[in-house]
Amino acid sequence: MIQCDGLVKIYKTDDIEVVALQGLNIRVEPGEMMAIIGNSGSGKSTLLNILGGLDRPSAGQVRVGEWDLLKISDEQLVEYKRKTVGFIWQNNARNLLPYLSALENVEMPMMLSGKVDRAYAKQLLEWVGLKDRMRNKLQQLSGGEQQRVAIAISLANRPSLLLADEPTGSVDTETSDRIMGIFRQLNRELSLTIVIVTHDMSLASKVDRVVAIRDGMTSTEFVKRNPSLDLTAAGSGSGSIKDAHEEYVVLDRAGRLQVPRGYLEALGISGKASMEFEGDRIVIRAPKQIGAEQDH
Ligand code: ADP
Ligand code: MG
Repeated sequence: MIQCDGLVKIYKTDDIEVVALQGLNIRVEPGEMMAIIGNSGSGKSTLLNILGGLDRPSAGQVRVGEWDLLKISDEQLVEYKRKTVGFIWQNNARNLLPYLSALENVEMPMMLSGKVDRAYAKQLLEWVGLKDRMRNKLQQLSGGEQQRVAIAISLANRPSLLLADEPTGSVDTETSDRIMGIFRQLNRELSLTIVIVTHDMSLASKVDRVVAIRDGMTSTEFVKRNPSLDLTAAGSGSGSIKDAHEEYVVLDRAGRLQVPRGYLEALGISGKASMEFEGDRIVIRAPKQIGAEQDH
């Protein structure tokens, strides 16, 4: 569904250049529900905006389904945004029109693409648990309810890919669990591919795979040990990600990897390290002190 190779995004402001993505690689299979995790400023929103067609890549390769987002024309991009991808923003005001009802909000993207399907709009609102609130104006709904309307809106044109940027960033734990439950259900029932961006490690236990981004590159990947184990249904937010997921470090094609900062700090490694090949393993150590061995 998604394939990024050596993806680069540079923002130019006045005379400063920010390299938000510096050669990022990622693959997402059709029907997968996965999360992208990383600290603030690591490039998560930049990646999602490029995948959503809201921003253009600077270099590298990025394909979503049949589309090549580096080469896509402006007209095709409009089509892409309307039909292939659904987007949920962190800031609710961007998703919703407050003076319209929930139902009218869901019908809006349908109207823009020329075909209103009221029955489907109602079904979507039912799916997100708002059957009884669909005639309410958005401003009459709570933050969590508005966020669920945003999910229904993002699905109005039946996209095959759903992108959500910090969808639970400003709601309580209960609402957050509920939203993750809705995502899981949509993923199963509509075979929808879902990519969730978050800085919240506890969400990670509720998806099949987590890719960690650091400084605009993928660093580590966590894959669920037992995919049939549904942690969402159990409402389990407890336990660390390491209990349920296998951790892998990501190697790019040039053989580069990012060593977790904690490991480097624990061993006092900075600047350079020594690397040795030992039969079935590669060992990275703090460099030997020059002269230390010759002394005795
Ligand atoms: P995240 O979503 O992980 O917090 P972002 O993708 O928003 O990170 O930002 C990555 C880097 O790119 C940051 O250093 C940020 O300041 C910079 N950046 C993001 N958007 C812009 C922009 N429109 N103009 C200039 N710099 C930007
Ligand atoms: Mg962000």
